[in-house]
Amino acid sequence: MVRASRIRTLSSAAWLKAFVVVVCLAIIALEGWRDWAERNDQFADIRAEMENLAKSFTQHAEDTFELADAILVDAVDRVETGGTSLVSLTEMDGFLAERIQPLRRFKSLTVYGEDGLLLSSSLPGHRYKVDGSKQAFFLHHSRSPSRRWFFGPLIRDPLGSDWILTLSRRIAKPDGSFGGVVQISIPPLYFSSFFSRFDVGSQGTVTLFQKDGTLLARYPYIDRAIGVQSAYEPWFKNSVTSGSYEYTSPIDGVTRIGGYQSNHIFPIGVLSSVGRDEALAEWNREFIIRVVGVSLLVAMIGSLGWSLAGQLRRREQAEAELAVLAATDGLTGLANRRTFDNSLQAEWLRAAREGTCLSLLLIDIDHFKAFNDLYGHQAGDVCLQDVARLLGESVRRPGDLVARYGGEELAVLMPSTDAKGAAAVAEVVRSRIEELAVPHGANTSSGVLTISVGAATLKPAVEVLRTDPKMLITLADGALYRAKLEGRNRVSVSEAA
Ligand code: GH3
Ligand code: MG
Ligand code: MG
Repeated sequence: MVRASRIRTLSSAAWLKAFVVVVCLAIIALEGWRDWAERNDQFADIRAEMENLAKSFTQHAEDTFELADAILVDAVDRVETGGTSLVSLTEMDGFLAERIQPLRRFKSLTVYGEDGLLLSSSLPGHRYKVDGSKQAFFLHHSRSPSRRWFFGPLIRDPLGSDWILTLSRRIAKPDGSFGGVVQISIPPLYFSSFFSRFDVGSQGTVTLFQKDGTLLARYPYIDRAIGVQSAYEPWFKNSVTSGSYEYTSPIDGVTRIGGYQSNHIFPIGVLSSVGRDEALAEWNREFIIRVVGVSLLVAMIGSLGWSLAGQLRRREQAEAELAVLAATDGLTGLANRRTFDNSLQAEWLRAAREGTCLSLLLIDIDHFKAFNDLYGHQAGDVCLQDVARLLGESVRRPGDLVARYGGEELAVLMPSTDAKGAAAVAEVVRSRIEELAVPHGANTSSGVLTISVGAATLKPAVEVLRTDPKMLITLADGALYRAKLEGRNRVSVSEAA
């Protein structure tokens, strides 16, 4: 009974603790899931923003090259119709300068003759002094009859030393043969300064690439980065037209989130990016605040739950101890009379239901009044405790109940035990008390402490279910009375059994 109470107490507190743990884990899991989803949303937003920015920049670059091409078409027409006499060329110088000067995005517009010598340029003072015959744009047009524009590789300007991009067209003689090249120079620095007008944070970059992977322009501008090959980058590897990437820059080692967009007309693409740490800084700050908040909440719930569980455990333990005390006899530690009565009722009904025997032993110490008189009441108490302990040790079958019936009378209730079994247990108990050899000077027949036992066994029938179980007590009491009459220190079995 004591053990059962303790199990219930422990499990209640444990349930509360488990509940608190589940609640705390649920809060952490929900918050973690929310943070993770928010972080993913944040990433998706940054990616979309970067892709859009890359699209805008690519469109701007396309517009620039289209404008350049329109100027080229105009200039080619002018050369083809005006010829290359010195007079025409002098007029041409003014025409070219007039077309180029208002446009900051172009550095120069130049006409090369069929031999590669510079004939006219928007930048004055170079006539016949510059040889363009080895330049990629010249070689292309001299070999190809195509009248389409040619987007040249990044080169050092033949009219200076800056990096330039070239867009060029072929000049055709009246018979269609090669008559020279008109070429426009676009400094990549122009794109860098254009990109600088947009906010991509202190770690962000905008980079213009040629489709072969050559880095053409970059914001922030780094001179050593211009012309670097980036063909190994993911946005070139699969010849993608657009996409977003997280990558670590080989130029400055910063991890960035970037959006890439290539152009379908000109062989260029733009990658715009922001530093990942910088872009997530705001989210990270809020995340830390949330982590601290949730940790405090979880700690509060946890400690509150734990202290409540502790209180519950102590309270239920106290209740269980009270219940044990209420069911136990203080002197002997055996079940008390109330517990005995309850058990008798329950076992009686069970025996009736299951059709089994129920046995009862009533045990009374012989001449106990005289023992008290002779050795004192305290010695009598100790003696009673000894008898109770021995009884508890002798009756060990689960279901058996040893109780203090009243005064120095003890009772043993034995479910599913027939008369023979009950008599056997009674005899064991009786003989073991005698073997204890507790001196009892007033017990003249033996000189030691002895007991008399009355045993009774009944098999309650279902139809007589309502029969009072006290019948069993009456029978056992009668048997005990007989044992006393017959000389004590003996077992008497109820005749009705
Ligand atoms: P009998 O052999 O006929 O049983 O003689 P007895 O003296 O034992 O008679 P009875 O059973 O009527 O005796 C009851 C006595 O048991 C009365 C009282 O002195 C003693 N007694 C009852 N309860 C206690 C107790 O808690 N402690 C002590 N020390 N003695 C008790
Ligand atoms: Mg008595
Ligand atoms: Mg007695």
